[in-house]
Amino acid sequence: MPIPSAKRRLAAYPHERSGGLRLRAMIALALACRTKLLLADKPTTALGATVQAQILLRLRRLKKRARYGMIFFTHSLGVAGEIADRVAVMYAGRYGEVGKVEEVMKRPFHPYTQGLMGSTVQAGLRGMRLAAIPSTPSDLSCLPPGCASAPRCAFAETVCRERVPEETHLPPRHRARCIRVAA
Ligand code: SF4
Repeated sequence: MPIPSAKRRLAAYPHERSGGLRLRAMIALALACRTKLLLADKPTTALGATVQAQILLRLRRLKKRARYGMIFFTHSLGVAGEIADRVAVMYAGRYGEVGKVEEVMKRPFHPYTQGLMGSTVQAGLRGMRLAAIPSTPSDLSCLPPGCASAPRCAFAETVCRERVPEETHLPPRHRARCIRVAA
């Protein structure tokens, strides 16, 4: 992904460069430090679909070649599917489900993951209405005592509102926190 007119762009101020170019410069700076772990916090959020795809492809290739680990934060399960080996679906600071990305996307156990999948545009859902997750994200300053997903979960029971669900291990390496999930 060469940068056209690279010399001229090197002399440009950051605000004169595009979002994609600034992001590529940041990735280059991070990797120049011979990093072992790259934390990428929603790096492709403001980019167009084409540049986003280019950046994800480049990060995936670099990860293999330079052999660094990467924690990639995203609001998009589609992006997670493109870049990750393993995924942790978080809600209100706690994970609801963790596993290999293809397993979680093929067979999501946690209702919140199912809600995300149902509200994500996918080729197989063409012509169908997307199912929105009801209500709004929880207020992190006053979380409910039990499962944080309860106010937005269609399956919530009294016990969900009383205590945080235990972690259930689902062999080989899948884990979920929900009373509906049985090992
Ligand atoms: S523990 Fe209860 S509220 Fe939480 S996701 Fe499972 S069913 Fe819904």
